Amino acid sequence: MANVNIKTGTSEFPDYYEVLQCERTASSEELKKSYQSLILSTHPDKVNCNNDRFLLVQEAWNILRDPESRKLYDAQLSNSEHSNTDCLLYDVINLSDMDNCDGVYTYMCRCGSNYVLEDSDRPLNENTVVIDCEECSFSLKVNF
Ligand SMILES: [Zn+2]
Repeated sequence: MANVNIKTGTSEFPDYYEVLQCERTASSEELKKSYQSLILSTHPDKVNCNNDRFLLVQEAWNILRDPESRKLYDAQLSNSEHSNTDCLLYDVINLSDMDNCDGVYTYMCRCGSNYVLEDSDRPLNENTVVIDCEECSFSLKVNF
């Protein structure tokens, strides 16, 4: 059974890649395969299933099947994610601003909780990381 979980964050912007259960780097062939199997499992004529889900899969496919509209959608998606991050960003700091204890970096949030970054969490191919507070909705951006 397909498990469609739409990640909307704080905006209502749907993640069509999640709808189609594909990576954002998926080829159009992969998207098509996934779409076809989802359509079979969610089609209201065949299964007594949630019609909304079927329509959402259709909608996702209509956007992502066309390279031009997919490109446009990718830009909107990335925009919506960045603006979400920006409006909830607590601070931008350098790694050296964090307290380091045996490879675990901590930084106090406005709410009194701590942002925690372990050495093993550091992305290999990026020089910045965004950490979510465990207690509130703020995020911390750390530059390496
Ligand atoms: Zn917090």
